[in-house]
Amino acid sequence: MTIKKTPVTLRPYQRVQHPYQKLKLCRKCRAFTVLGEKQCPSCGKHALVPVEKYAAARVSWSHWRSRLLLLLLTGGGLVLAERLWELILLLAVGIALLYLLLTMQKRSTPALHRAQLEKLFLRHQNGLAAGLHRDHQSAVEVFQQGDKPRTYEMLREIGSLVQNDRLRIEQIMLLQTFRLRKDMDLMLEQLLMESFNAELVAYIGEIAKIRRDLIRENTFRYMLQHESHILKLSDGEAIMALVAGAAVRKRRYMSLYPYLLLRYARLLPKERFLRLYRHVRSHVTSSTPLYNEVMRIHEEKYKWDPDFEVQPG
Ligand SMILES: [Zn+2]
Repeated sequence: MTIKKTPVTLRPYQRVQHPYQKLKLCRKCRAFTVLGEKQCPSCGKHALVPVEKYAAARVSWSHWRSRLLLLLLTGGGLVLAERLWELILLLAVGIALLYLLLTMQKRSTPALHRAQLEKLFLRHQNGLAAGLHRDHQSAVEVFQQGDKPRTYEMLREIGSLVQNDRLRIEQIMLLQTFRLRKDMDLMLEQLLMESFNAELVAYIGEIAKIRRDLIRENTFRYMLQHESHILKLSDGEAIMALVAGAAVRKRRYMSLYPYLLLRYARLLPKERFLRLYRHVRSHVTSSTPLYNEVMRIHEEKYKWDPDFEVQPG
């Protein structure tokens, strides 16, 4: 079965350090969402703020309250002071305390931001779940209107906070209907699952063709873990070979996955095999299974190929 693939344009994905940085909160109705910039999907008001900003504003408000309190206390003291030395002393103490307070506040701000966010998420657990559920519903509606690229973009945003296989499968199914290109902002690791999934394997095969750099440890592990299932697919062996070809990209992968290379070295295209050959010659102990296999393939297929001649020095 071949799926008809359509050319699409995908907006780039904004990467963040922490997933919650994607989350926005409505200042009016307290709805959470990962979709939309300003307009709240729940009440329609232009009142969305990133939760991080919201938490920071709360912390900064409480900081200002403490500073104000200190100023008031010092000010009160100054009014009551009767002698000049009392005035100077109070002023000095007030300035010293303010300096201390500012330093302490500055130092504790990141921790307070985190605590404030934790409090927010804990207090609004249900609201958060409801918000993400509503986001998913909106994505389904967009899908029903026929806008697949936009649906994918929405699911991708939701996927930055919600990690479940259903959401991953939905994204992979959509991606499989797109004609994927090198210049697209694609992702792979986030879509990996525990269990074997033929669509995911097919997607990995495509990524191995156009974006080898996205194939990293977790993908190699996934492919090796489900190898027996994958080999039952009609193009399973070819996909395994493509992934082995991606492993040749880095010396680190070549030393981590010798078994993968050993099994599929024979199916590698020449330019991939050449990389493997050079690596094995200079970094792999002779008479290990991988070494022997690579030398055997070289002997059979590339013995007279000038590209494989060892360069002096
Ligand atoms: Zn709202």
